[in-house]
Amino acid sequence: MALYFYNTLTHRLEPFAPLDGNKVRMYSCGPTVYNYVHIGNLRSFTFQDILRRYLRCRGYEVYHVMNVTDVDDKIIRDSLKAGQSIAEFTARYRTSFEEDAAAMRLESPERITPATEHIGEMIELIRRLDEKGHAYESKGSTYFRIGSFPEYGKLSRIDASGIQAGARVEQDEYEKDELRDFALWKASKPGEPVWDSPFGPGRPGWHIECSAMAMKYLGESFDIHTGGVDLVFPHHENEIAQSEAATGKPFVRFWLHAEHLLVDNRKMSKSAGNFYTLRDLLDKGYSAEAIRYLLASVPYRKQINFTIDGLKASQTAIERLRNFQRRLEEGGFPGGSNSVVTELADTACRGFTAGMDDDLNTALALAAVFEFVRDVNTRMDAGEFQADNVADADRVLELFDTVFDVLETEESGQVPAAEIEALIAERIAARKARDFIRSDAIRDGLKARGVILEDTPQGTRWKYGSA
Ligand code: AMP
Ligand code: ZN
Repeated sequence: MALYFYNTLTHRLEPFAPLDGNKVRMYSCGPTVYNYVHIGNLRSFTFQDILRRYLRCRGYEVYHVMNVTDVDDKIIRDSLKAGQSIAEFTARYRTSFEEDAAAMRLESPERITPATEHIGEMIELIRRLDEKGHAYESKGSTYFRIGSFPEYGKLSRIDASGIQAGARVEQDEYEKDELRDFALWKASKPGEPVWDSPFGPGRPGWHIECSAMAMKYLGESFDIHTGGVDLVFPHHENEIAQSEAATGKPFVRFWLHAEHLLVDNRKMSKSAGNFYTLRDLLDKGYSAEAIRYLLASVPYRKQINFTIDGLKASQTAIERLRNFQRRLEEGGFPGGSNSVVTELADTACRGFTAGMDDDLNTALALAAVFEFVRDVNTRMDAGEFQADNVADADRVLELFDTVFDVLETEESGQVPAAEIEALIAERIAARKARDFIRSDAIRDGLKARGVILEDTPQGTRWKYGSA
């Protein structure tokens, strides 16, 4: 079975293979570091993480580049307000992004690098565009002439035929229906950061950084470019125009876009003020893995309507898998192997892979795993699960977790198993000593930390959970 991706450029599902042997070269538009990222942003970054992990799972080598936008209109506006240089102002949000990414278990791209370290490459690209007649100057700024690139609009399918000559837009972000020549280089204004260039003192427009950085590290044509759907137009359309007008070569083969995370049916965004940061949710006691699971479990081309109930359901789903994992670790199964369980594991792995191959359909992939867990739990209850089947079940969980990465508990804030066992021993000793205040306190303390104790005739059992 081939791996299929939905390509925004062709509007079709297409079988994927890299241009260059086994190596996938991919680029993702990174964060604009003027504030904490919200979990809408993290949806896009989680999708990229799932994508890169699955590509590796499929045997590909991945070279993934992500930019950090550390100069743009919003950054300049907010750093001026804070009375700081853009470098000082953006440093702390770059750090907070890295912390959030680590908490969310996002693998670090092979190269993650800020725009301001690539001003030279941007100037060089603008110079090439100018040489080929795609750029023009007006009042100290340099613009891309959309009318000079007949293919403009091919990604977003926007109709560029009626483009008005000379209609220009200054801002980095503009309304979706404003089809205008966009700034490659902006004339310097007093108080703003400024770089020297052949086009006069100024600073880059926002779009040029991604073309310059992607081509520097990945070549003039590469395999995959990702971002949220809000970037299709104008940002990615402009990236194509700048890159292809300069090189005459196709820029990107596969464009993959993640749908939005919504709150009350509106896009979660900083400007609308309807956002949660990761920190907001961690402070409320939710785990980063539950957030990761929630964002990853909905196929990336479907919108997610964010709710606290959805988050709780994600936590429960993870607990189910962890409890299953614990049951495997506890053992006590009859010796030998039941071939039916081995077959169930094979089916689950195939189902998982088939779902992921289908444009990263994580919902289908998860269904295969949960069906397996349900079946196997039933067989364990019936004594039909044998000691050698532990390896079968581990195989399924391992495949799941190389992509989803939510089962490990070390950094999760969840109470480690060894600590729980020690507290259970202490509770037994307290009960023997008839110190029921202490034994109840241990039980209630664990409950508050998401661990349930159950006293059975065989002794005290425990599981992760809140009910
Ligand atoms: P920004 O920091 O605004 O440049 O955005 C970083 C990434 O987050 C981009 O790929 C955006 O498309 C994406 N993004 C922004 N808001 C949302 C949202 N509500 N849901 C999903 N992705 C988003
Ligand atoms: Zn970009």
